[in-house]
Amino acid sequence: MSEMFVPPRAVVAPPARIGAPLDSVVTPSLVIDLDAFERNIAAMTRAVAGTGVALRPHAKMHKCVHIARLQMAAGAVGVCCQKVSEAEILVKGGITDVLVSNEIVGAEKLKRLALLARNATIGVCIDESAGVDELATASAQADVRMNCLVEIDVGGERCGVIDTDEAVRIADAIAGHGSLRFAGIQAYNGASQHIADPTARRETSLRVADTVRRTVEALSRAGLPCETVTGAGTGTFQAALDSGVFTEVQPGSYLFMDRSYGEIGRDAGETFDHALFVLTTVMSTASPDRAVVDAGHKATSIDSGMPGVWDRPTITYERPSDEHGVLVGERLPRRGERILLVPGHCDPTVNLHDWLVGVRGLHSDVAAVEAVWAVDARGALF
Ligand SMILES: *Cc1c(COP(=O)(O)O)cnc(C)c1O
Repeated sequence: MSEMFVPPRAVVAPPARIGAPLDSVVTPSLVIDLDAFERNIAAMTRAVAGTGVALRPHAKMHKCVHIARLQMAAGAVGVCCQKVSEAEILVKGGITDVLVSNEIVGAEKLKRLALLARNATIGVCIDESAGVDELATASAQADVRMNCLVEIDVGGERCGVIDTDEAVRIADAIAGHGSLRFAGIQAYNGASQHIADPTARRETSLRVADTVRRTVEALSRAGLPCETVTGAGTGTFQAALDSGVFTEVQPGSYLFMDRSYGEIGRDAGETFDHALFVLTTVMSTASPDRAVVDAGHKATSIDSGMPGVWDRPTITYERPSDEHGVLVGERLPRRGERILLVPGHCDPTVNLHDWLVGVRGLHSDVAAVEAVWAVDARGALF
């Protein structure tokens, strides 16, 4: 067999019809509280307004073209994503400015990325001199000029250069290639996003800002000014806005909020509401000491702990298997009752689903489906 078998993409039919009541949405499915979602978009727009700092929300969280467009309409300069295939879907969906806030290695993938730069502004991160030629070749072959940002490690101990001199060497190598543009630096500290105490989190952000400032100054002395200094997430964007060194922030989770972010203390300033839920149905009360729901770990992430049970303080969710979750506690729900779960971590939860169901008045008696959006970049992992 030499040819590739490409089955028709088997997309599951949406779990809801527009205009239908919430009760008719089949479960388990991802439900967005549109009122909270719109408040979160507006709150982030307000937070950045007047700061001179650009907003580039992270789309790895929602993986949805329609939502990226709403963020652009609310003032974002572009979006971030983590993977080339995500960027392909976003550009195809009309997003004209995409930063792959990540290192991309390998000629085939870089070729695909460079081709996108024919129709959109494309940026990519790099943290080793050894990778610059590969980026330049891909860009030259596609006849484009990609924006390259040197990623620096500001304590996250993930990607990023540690040594300032090495950052300057990489930037210099980028600037030496006609097919590349040195655009600045990325400094994202994933580890500090979820520090529970806002004061401790802010102190970490101040240290991040110091490292960023030193790097920007070293680059500037070497004749390599940073047009863009980008980074920060939902836990640290306010500190980045206040730092005076970032030109751009990249929060993602603020839009949906998860249990994990909901539990940490907030800075003064804007707050965000839970807008993403897994709607689930009680499928068994055969044993009186538990109620079994139809959402297991194939419907909700468990990497950041168990989902919360919305508006039912006497009940907890535990022991998820693939397609079952167990509710225990006082005043358990009856068979057929519907329960909203608050995912522990929004990003990996969304990636499990094909559809997002937008509901107006989710927590009211007249809750109705107003939108059904595809998770366009679900499974876009390369
Ligand atoms: C995930 C991520 C973000 C967004 O962080 P949130 O905590 O979801 O707001 C921003 N930048 C980078 C590089 C990321 O990986």
